[in-house]
Amino acid sequence: MSSKVETRQFQAETRKVLDIVINSLYTERDIFVRELVSNAADALEKFRHLSLTEQPEFDAHVPLEIAIDCDDKKHTLTIADTGIGMTAEELETNLGTIAHSGSGNFIEELAEAAKKDVNLIGQFGVGFYSAFMAAEKVTVQTRSWDGSEGHEWVSDGGGTYTVSPCEGLHRGTKIILDLKEDAHEYGQKFTLERIIKQYSTFIPFPVKVEGKKVNTVEAIWTRSKNEITDEEYTEFYKFVGNAVDEPSYRLHFSVDAPLAINALLFVPQENFETMGMGRLEPGVNLYCRKVLIDQHSENILPEWLRFIKGVVDSEDLPLNISRQSLQDNALVMKLRRVITKRFLKFLAEEAKKDTEKYQKFWKTFGIFLKEGVTSDFEFQKELAKLLRFESSAAEPETMIALDEYVERMQEGQEEIYYINGPNRSAIENGPYVEMFKKQEIEILYTLEPIDDFVLSHLGEYEGKKLVSADRADLSLPETEGKDKEESGENQAEALPEPVRESLCKWMKEVLADKVKDVKTSSRLVESPAMIVNVDGMMTSSMERIMMAQGAPEEQLAMGGKKDMEINPASPLIRKLADLRVNNEDFARDVVEQIFDNAMIQAGLLVDPQQMVNRNYRILEQMASDK
Ligand code: ADP
Ligand code: MG
Repeated sequence: MSSKVETRQFQAETRKVLDIVINSLYTERDIFVRELVSNAADALEKFRHLSLTEQPEFDAHVPLEIAIDCDDKKHTLTIADTGIGMTAEELETNLGTIAHSGSGNFIEELAEAAKKDVNLIGQFGVGFYSAFMAAEKVTVQTRSWDGSEGHEWVSDGGGTYTVSPCEGLHRGTKIILDLKEDAHEYGQKFTLERIIKQYSTFIPFPVKVEGKKVNTVEAIWTRSKNEITDEEYTEFYKFVGNAVDEPSYRLHFSVDAPLAINALLFVPQENFETMGMGRLEPGVNLYCRKVLIDQHSENILPEWLRFIKGVVDSEDLPLNISRQSLQDNALVMKLRRVITKRFLKFLAEEAKKDTEKYQKFWKTFGIFLKEGVTSDFEFQKELAKLLRFESSAAEPETMIALDEYVERMQEGQEEIYYINGPNRSAIENGPYVEMFKKQEIEILYTLEPIDDFVLSHLGEYEGKKLVSADRADLSLPETEGKDKEESGENQAEALPEPVRESLCKWMKEVLADKVKDVKTSSRLVESPAMIVNVDGMMTSSMERIMMAQGAPEEQLAMGGKKDMEINPASPLIRKLADLRVNNEDFARDVVEQIFDNAMIQAGLLVDPQQMVNRNYRILEQMASDK
């Protein structure tokens, strides 16, 4: 028998994970019990699902349950399930390697997270290894549902493990922990009962400690709302979401038509995706009459709602539907639409009820809704209502809805305006908002680079076009009329028409192919010049994103046709007209510099070396003029 024992090395990444688990996690050790029990429950769910389609014969009579036994004298803890079990190969891949890693620096992120909160370990899909927090030796005896030979896996959490055949096993997996000296408490019945009650109440299979069932097996989502306490909801959230926080929003609803649906959905407090843990797995499980048919279902909600945790149960689904066929099942698609619309409506209601709370949600999860707008046409209308932006008419840090903007629109104003910038003060001190300020037209500040994509995807809201203020063809309400009568003082000082024209023409020559055209502006109040986008779709902020993503220059050049608009009332521009006559070389430098300055204000790249050299030339000229 011993000749069949094979010693294997853990994959390097696994060794590092073990290292972190064993050496840096001391607090909240209880969670290893939860992780092992949840693995047992997963294995049982998998078996239950499989038996719907495969009709397995081996050990078919063995009931689905989890048995936990302990020996306080020998200091052992055993967690046994009658789930799907593992074949020799599965043992190897599941417990010797780490299948999925969030991102490249998975290990560092895990180490960081572990320092902050050991509970996070489950989120990384390495829960099994938490056994080594409490055990000096872990033995896994397992036999697959297919009836193939059973195996035993043993490790002390060092660099290696052994695998050998093991006789006399039933279907399922038994995990035996030889407890470390400072972890003997886990060999006691009452400790285990306490932990199971705390973490695993909602496991949908009997969990027995020393033969006695300790959990209440029930599907909370099928109960009526007013019978469920907040505590029960929260506990259930922690269970389905493998979470430690409290949910921020909760939606529990059932409908009978057009489909019978029971759904219980939660929004967490934190967005783990921005915390560096890679892309989130979908968090909603799909049930049919309380039987799990698709865990972390990719089909029941759109991808951009992957931050939601919970369950959806529908009696109308066929029980033996396979995961593959869920994808294009018409019923599932219908479910998806109904539930998504219901959830978005719920968010809109919550936003009305408590704006502050919604703003907090928006800051954490808004990015997912924006992803929805840009990737999913189907729900754009509902999503548009949920978007929030800073605005010239609102206090800093507070965000407003498009509805609020529309309500405040001026008479004659046909369009909704927005402008992107790195922050509020950069926008407010920049050239693009000058005329908006003067005419008291509200303008949205889009502070995230993705915002312009979102708004250009939307195109319009409530029949009003969404327009970026760095567009060339902007026509503000009454700009023309108002400007002519009221800007008398400016007009008097401004350059006469023919001078303007020839100045623009000459400036365009100086700037050559850097701009498509140079024109006089009706929108500038203080600034001498600004860059505007001629291409209807492209805004400067979109160009910045493309630049950051390393788009090829030709593509940028194609999208980014720009005009420079100049302000004929600006003292600098007026003097430039004279300078051109008296000292053309100097005047050329000034034009280039004005252009670069305007580019910088648009957030676009300039060649710093060229600009600095030119700047010195200008300074030198000024110094010698004095
Ligand atoms: P996760 O549960 O997130 O996949 P774990 O480290 O907890 O990560 O478990 C790794 C894998 O080992 C599981 O995905 C599963 O395939 C396998 N496994 C663990 N425990 C059991 C069990 N009791 N029965 C069957 N397979 C198991
Ligand atoms: Mg697990």
